[in-house]
Amino acid sequence: MAKAKVSANRRDNTTTTITEATPTIIPQKRATITDIPVQCWAHSRTGKRCRTKVSSREGEPIPIPYCNYHLKHGDGAVKVVKHPLFGNALVARYDLPAKYRLVYWGKRGRCPPSHVEDRSISYYPPNPITGSNIDPNVEGGRTTKRNNYNGVLNPSGTGDLMQFAGCPGPNERQNMRSTFQYFGLRNGILGGLECVTVMPIPKNTQFLHWYGAGWWSERDIKRQDVGTAKYPAPLRQAKGRV
Ligand SMILES: [Zn+2]
Repeated sequence: MAKAKVSANRRDNTTTTITEATPTIIPQKRATITDIPVQCWAHSRTGKRCRTKVSSREGEPIPIPYCNYHLKHGDGAVKVVKHPLFGNALVARYDLPAKYRLVYWGKRGRCPPSHVEDRSISYYPPNPITGSNIDPNVEGGRTTKRNNYNGVLNPSGTGDLMQFAGCPGPNERQNMRSTFQYFGLRNGILGGLECVTVMPIPKNTQFLHWYGAGWWSERDIKRQDVGTAKYPAPLRQAKGRV
């Protein structure tokens, strides 16, 4: 009955409902080298696209497409909330469309020795001229750990919010994925990885992406669903064995 209670509260709270008009959000285009300076990808907390233009910061072909304000504070379209079981969660502040783009970013450096509470991601710097991570000279097109690894991006102590996105449980599925388009420069200070929503994300729904099969066991916790009545998670559609 928790669900009924939530909707009843919302109905009663009419003044809030009227003032909180749902903004229409248009997905950002992928940034390319020809876009320099690129328009900041972030939106305000009321759903207005940031108009600030972002130029190269340290000579990188495509900068992390956030202005200095949004690098510090994160995209206003998302917010970090307390999760009853898992510390924090990242949810949509208002309805977001499919193909909405976000950046997982951090300070580049060596991989920290401990994996506990480690939210660093591997870094594969894009081509310094084209800004692309696709290299036609590499089999499969993508540069890899073997030929292009450049440490990790550590979001700790930065304004990155994507580090708070969860991992789907057994009955859930991801609603966001990384695209293998990185931002930054080999041996640079900051780097980022483009992420994109793969379905519309309703207000208050959690952002979930797949951390990899080992994530739960490395932390000695049983993999379980992360969705709650207040902060739902997208559920798997197919039932039965896959
Ligand atoms: Zn901005």
